[in-house]
Amino acid sequence: MLDFPEMSPSQDGVYQIYSLCYARAPNRRVHENFLRRDMHDGPMPLDFNLWIVRNAHRTILVDTGFGKRTAGERGFPIDFDPLDALSKLGIDPDSIEDVILTHLHFDHAGNLDRFGKARIHVQDAEMNFATGRCMCDAHLRMPFDVHDVISLVRLLYADRVCFHDGEAAPLPGITLHALPGHSNGLQGVRVMTARGPVLLASDASHLYANFARRSPYALTVDAIATLRTYTRLMEIAGALDRIIPGHDPKVRDLYPNYVIRGVQLTALHEAPKPHTLEDLAKLEVFS
Ligand SMILES: [Zn+2]
Ligand SMILES: [Zn+2]
Repeated sequence: MLDFPEMSPSQDGVYQIYSLCYARAPNRRVHENFLRRDMHDGPMPLDFNLWIVRNAHRTILVDTGFGKRTAGERGFPIDFDPLDALSKLGIDPDSIEDVILTHLHFDHAGNLDRFGKARIHVQDAEMNFATGRCMCDAHLRMPFDVHDVISLVRLLYADRVCFHDGEAAPLPGITLHALPGHSNGLQGVRVMTARGPVLLASDASHLYANFARRSPYALTVDAIATLRTYTRLMEIAGALDRIIPGHDPKVRDLYPNYVIRGVQLTALHEAPKPHTLEDLAKLEVFS
């Protein structure tokens, strides 16, 4: 059975990054993925991911997915419980010291009560957004799950939340970058790998086509900020093949996939197939 490749302890500040796709929305249509509706319609599925960032010194989770409770309440099936997959991979949730939440939407910030000691890294603006007056509006509240927000407040009172205000460098080889627009306090995570920095953009761009076309996703709280964020992605990542969108199945087509301990993972620290901005702007999933 394939296991994670070893990394040398001398390489702190350099990581492997794997995305774990635990749910999919296969029937999603083009018009559901953009604010603008004047594009031809057709299938445009979404993946739901969390990201495992690891080296010889530590394993960091970027986002925590959602579990069976949320899946039941929202009528949104999951392929498997993401924390069960972590256990199969030999990653005990109680052993994780750092969890970085890109934002607090239900599909990114669930399961928080299942980590016994992790510090949770979040932007000030996102916590303020999810616990303040904006949540009086059902439209803004919809992508948040009150159980998750309460879990985070409980962790705050247990001294386990680490707040950031814009750019930060919480761990060797890891920097955080404010990328607002889809949510007020969304942060991207730039991770140093052997092939250079890779930016986990999360929902700063759900799909490659969102930033490649400069066409914001259907759920956007600030379109002007989103368009600025699309420019920032390239500035922070430095190259097109170092930007990883949050929900695009094309990521699984472009990057090498491995079945490690029975769990399928996509290796983002390895070189992808060559691709251009025009390729990424296409609405169809690659075959
Ligand atoms: Zn989101
Ligand atoms: Zn999302």
